[in-house]
Amino acid sequence: MQAPEELEPTVRIRELAKDKVNFVLENVDLAFANSFRRVMMADLPTVAIDMVEIEVNTTVLPDEFIAHRLGQIPLLSSNCDEAIRYTRDCTCLAGCSFCSITLVLHVSCNDDNTMNVTSNHLEVTPHPEDQEQQADPGEELSKRGEYFGHPVGKNDPNASPVLICKIRKGQELKIRCTAKKGIAKEHAKWSPCSAVAFEYDPYNKLRHTSYWFETDIKAEWPVGDNAKEEEVPRDDEPFDYTAKPNKFYFEVETDGSLSPQEVVMKGLAELQTKLANLIYGLKTQTQAEIDIMNEPQPNGAGAETGAWGMPASGPPAVPPTSAWSGGASSQWGNTSPGQRSTSNPPGWGASPNAGSWSSGATAGWSSPGQQSNGWNV
Ligand SMILES: [Zn+2]
Repeated sequence: MQAPEELEPTVRIRELAKDKVNFVLENVDLAFANSFRRVMMADLPTVAIDMVEIEVNTTVLPDEFIAHRLGQIPLLSSNCDEAIRYTRDCTCLAGCSFCSITLVLHVSCNDDNTMNVTSNHLEVTPHPEDQEQQADPGEELSKRGEYFGHPVGKNDPNASPVLICKIRKGQELKIRCTAKKGIAKEHAKWSPCSAVAFEYDPYNKLRHTSYWFETDIKAEWPVGDNAKEEEVPRDDEPFDYTAKPNKFYFEVETDGSLSPQEVVMKGLAELQTKLANLIYGLKTQTQAEIDIMNEPQPNGAGAETGAWGMPASGPPAVPPTSAWSGGASSQWGNTSPGQRSTSNPPGWGASPNAGSWSSGATAGWSSPGQQSNGWNV
């Protein structure tokens, strides 16, 4: 048999529906399969209602209750990574059509029957500032589908809408919602998936789990359908402690905001981007660290050099050159100056987002040996 590391990863789709996909991923290791699962679950952007202005609420539910329910209504978010900006990256002051979607809902009950207020009552309206921006449509808007930001199932007579609350005669709900782009690491409402799971090793040959049983382990723990894909172990088969899992049975189910195809493809792309950033960060880091390690450490420098461990967020914005710019120019050769207080720091040329060096020249850099070490205080 060919060793797993010589084989290319493969994907075999077993079932594909409008909101779920079932596939078998082979020839990758457990860490990759799990990273992939977590990226699909928590790192793909979608739009969700994030701010609610309540004008009239005479229903039995309090404002907060309704706002919480509104946040979790899935909105169509196809191509979300290109079609809308994060509000934090936008130049507007309080939301514009590039970074938000406005939805309004106004329902009142006038007959004797109880009325259901649902996601179908939410209407997307143009942003109030849109008139000025018509001249510059921006590339985000051209990448949006026709129903971008609409509640999932609103235009589909076969889909049942999401219930927001029930009202009776004389009660009214009038609200204005702002939907924003986000990811599920910030709040689960932005997750495109309702479930992502994978199974491996259905016969538990690897003994990654131990089953509790009373009399007969096989009768009490029946194997699932995925076991049909695997070789049945013999009763006298010895335990192979070097074996590793390499076949993973995935089930990805979305809430409709993104299609399962998009979730899987964007999940892979996102994982690739994360790894590329990590590699880039490590390369930049290595060059800077080599330069430091080649120099004798001045007294008290240990704690500060620890801060060089990893970039605080994202890849460093400077190329891996000129780790020490020299000269007491008291400038950090890097971005995000807001993170640092630089009363009179030494000339660090390429500090790769190393966090906050709080007190510049005064913090433990007072050893007389510094001059010869090139610390240039
Ligand atoms: Zn904006």
